[in-house]
Amino acid sequence: MPYQNTSSRQDPDTEIATDYPPGAMVAVQLPLAVGGAYDYRLPVDAGVYAGAFVLVPLGRRQEVGVVWGPASGGLPESRIRPVTDILSVPPLPEVVRRFVDWVAAYTLHPRGTVLRMAMSVGSVFSGQPPPPRAGYHLGEAAIPADSVRVSAQRRKVLEAAGRSPGLPASELARAAGVTAGVVRGLAAAGLLRAVPLDSGARFGLPDPRRPGPVLSPSQAAAATHLTSRVAEGGFGVTLLHGVTGSGKTEVYFEAMAGVLEQGRQALVLLPEIALTAQWLDRFAARFGTRPAPWHSELGDAARRDTWRGVAEGRARVVVGARSALFLPFPDLGLIVVDEEHESAFKQEDGVAYHARDMAVVRARLGEHPVVLASATPSLETLTNVERGRYHRVHLPDRHGGASMPTVSVIDMRREPPEKGSWGPSWLSPPLVAEVSSTLASGEQAMLFLNRRGYAPLTLCRNCGHRLHCPNCSAWLVEHRTTGLLQCHHCAHAIRLPRACPSCSAEDRFAACGPGVERVAEEAAARFATARIAVMTSDTLSGPAAAESLVRRVMAHQVDLLIGTQIMAKGYHFPLLTLVGVVDADLGLGGGDLRAAERTLQLLGQVSGRAGRADRPGRVLVQSHDPTHPVIAALVDGDPEAFYAVETEQRRLARMPPFGRLVGLIVSGSEAARVDQAAAELARTAPRGAGVLVLGPAPAPLAYLRGRHRRRLLLKTDLEVRVQPLLRAWLAMVKPAAGVRVQVDVDPYSFN
Ligand code: ADP
Ligand code: ZN
Repeated sequence: MPYQNTSSRQDPDTEIATDYPPGAMVAVQLPLAVGGAYDYRLPVDAGVYAGAFVLVPLGRRQEVGVVWGPASGGLPESRIRPVTDILSVPPLPEVVRRFVDWVAAYTLHPRGTVLRMAMSVGSVFSGQPPPPRAGYHLGEAAIPADSVRVSAQRRKVLEAAGRSPGLPASELARAAGVTAGVVRGLAAAGLLRAVPLDSGARFGLPDPRRPGPVLSPSQAAAATHLTSRVAEGGFGVTLLHGVTGSGKTEVYFEAMAGVLEQGRQALVLLPEIALTAQWLDRFAARFGTRPAPWHSELGDAARRDTWRGVAEGRARVVVGARSALFLPFPDLGLIVVDEEHESAFKQEDGVAYHARDMAVVRARLGEHPVVLASATPSLETLTNVERGRYHRVHLPDRHGGASMPTVSVIDMRREPPEKGSWGPSWLSPPLVAEVSSTLASGEQAMLFLNRRGYAPLTLCRNCGHRLHCPNCSAWLVEHRTTGLLQCHHCAHAIRLPRACPSCSAEDRFAACGPGVERVAEEAAARFATARIAVMTSDTLSGPAAAESLVRRVMAHQVDLLIGTQIMAKGYHFPLLTLVGVVDADLGLGGGDLRAAERTLQLLGQVSGRAGRADRPGRVLVQSHDPTHPVIAALVDGDPEAFYAVETEQRRLARMPPFGRLVGLIVSGSEAARVDQAAAELARTAPRGAGVLVLGPAPAPLAYLRGRHRRRLLLKTDLEVRVQPLLRAWLAMVKPAAGVRVQVDVDPYSFN
C-alpha cells in the first residue's frame, strides 16, 4: 500500500480504483477479544482501500475497526448493517495486517486482541481532527529587556528553545529541566513566541549523509556487511555480535543510514526505556535530529502524532520498546533489535509474544533485513547462527584499544563481610578496599544488586512469622524510601505494623537480606564523603528522571552508583572503572530453564560498564559458589565454554531451542474450580510421538493477585506444529466461570 494515500477513503477527484467499491460488503475486524471479522456494508458514495479504518455499529455502540477483506457472506445481505463512517487515517498497511494475523495464529490469541496492540492510540481514531498544538520559538526580543528577570531556570529554557525547531511547552520544559510554568512565564513576557505546530514538525528528517565516526577495520567490515544486506534488500537476519564497547551502535547506524538513503523507514527496539536518553543523543549526533521514541510513558498527544507520523511515512526512524513493532510502518526497510538477549522483550501479560522473534517475523513479511545486536547473544540466536539461518558478524575488541575489564571473584565463604556499627554488612573487605581506592583516585564505582527495596524479607524474631502478601504467594519487600512494605507482584503495600500478626509480640521485626537501599545505607556509612546515587525503577520514575541521573553521572556529580539491572545496559560512563557485583549467586537458583544463561548475560552486561578508553576497568564478583560455571565463564572472560555445555544440555533434554515449550496457566479465584479445569486439561491432553504434557502442578507463584494458579507445560519435538494441537486441545475444555487458561508459546517465565 503506497503511503501517499493519507486517507482510508478514496479521493473523489481521482480515478484510482479502491479495493472495495461504494456499497460493497466488507469484513471489519474490531480491536476486541474476538477472533473473526464482522460483515458491514460500505456507504453508496464511498469506496475504501483494504486496511481502511472505519466506524461501525456494534450492538448499540460505535466501534472503530479495520477493513480486513471481503465480507464472509455468513449473514443475509438484508441483515448487514452499514458502516457509519470512514476515518481519515491512512489504511493499515497490508504487511501489518498479515503480521497481526501471524502473531494471532502463533500465540493463539484472538486477532482482535493483537489488532488492539496496533491501534493503541485511542485519540487517532476519535474522529476529531487533532487540536492544533502550540510550540514555542525564541521571541523577537532576543535580549531581555531590563524589566524582565532572567533566572537560571529561564535561561535554560531560552537555550533549549534556541536549539529546537519549536517545542510544546511541556517538552520544552522537560528539555530544560524546569516546570511548564517557567515556559509560560517566558511566553507571557514576550521572550518566547507561540507558533502553531503542525504535527509534522515533530519529526526532523534524519540526514544519512552526515559523516559518522571513522570506523576501525573490524567495524568497517561489519558495517559493510550490513549496508550491503540493506542495499540488496530482501529478508535476512544478521547477528551483530560484539563485546561491550565494541561500537555495535555505530555499526548499525551505518545500516540505518543506508535505509534512510533509500527513503525507507527504520525501527530500533531497545529493552529499557531508561536507555533511550543517551541513545537519542548519539542518534542526533550522527543524523542531525532525534528519532521518534515510542514507549508506554509517552503522553497521549505524542502517541497520536507518532502513530500518524509513522503511518504517513513522516517519522522515518522510531526507537522504542517492544510495542513499537505493531506501529503501522508502510515502508519499513530495517529493524534493529539491540540487546537481543534481553528477557524484557518477552511480553507476559495479554498477548504473550517475544519481540525479538516477532521482529524476525515482521522482517520476513516485509522482506527486509533485521539486525540482532548483543554482547551476550541468546542461546536461541547462537543456535540459529550455527544452523546457518542467521549470519553473524563479529566485533571482538573494544573500540579505541580499550581493554576488557579484568574480572575477579571474591569467595564470600573465605572473606565474609565484617559487621559494622550500622548493622549487618554485605560488602566484603576486598570490595570495600577497592571501592575506597577507586573513589580516592577520583574515579567512579558501581555496586550492582538485582534487588529493589531495602530488604526482601521481614520476619518476627519472636515466632518466625514472615510478612507476606495476602493476595500473592510472595513476601513483602521493605522500601525505606517510601516507608512501606510492598508486594512486588501486586499493588499491596502496608506500613510496618508494631505487633506481629501471628504472635502479637511488639517491635520484634527484623529485616533479612539486602536490597539496593540497604547496600546504599552501608555504603553511606563506609564511604562517608562519597556522593551516592541509587538507580532502580523506584528512584527513576520515567525517561526524564533517568536522563537527569545519567547527566549527573556524566558530569561527575556522582561517585558511587548503586542499582539494579536497570543500570546494567547500554550506558557509557567514562570515569567508571570499578564494578562490584554484590551477590552473583542471585538468580542462579530456581527451576528456570534460562537461569544460568540469563545470569551470565546480566553479569556480563554489568561488567561491561567498567572501564573505557584509557582507563582499564575492574570487576569484583562476590559469590558463595565461585566455581559455578557461570562465575567461571565470567572470570575467564570466555563464555564459549559455558555456552557449549549449556547447548549440549539443552540438546539432550530437547529443551528450547532443540524442542518446543508452551506454558498453560490456569487461574481463578476459587481453587476447586481451577483444579478441576487443570485436571480436565490433563485428561484431554494431546498424546503422540514427540509430545509430552507435564503437570498440572501449582505454579511457583501459586497465588497471584487473588487468583490461584496451576501450570501445565506442553513439551514437543521441533517438528511438531504446536498451534493446531493446542487449538484442538483448548476447544475440548470448557473451564467453569471465572477460570482462565492463559497460553504462553515459548515461555520465558516459569513462575
Ligand atoms: P557497544 O554498543 O558495542 O557497547 P557502542 O556503539 O556503544 O558500543 O560504542 C562504545 C563507545 O565507543 C561509544 O562511546 C562510541 O561512541 C565509541 N565508539 C565506537 N566506535 C567508534 C568509532 N569508530 N569512532 C569513535 N568512537 C567510537
Ligand atoms: Zn501481592
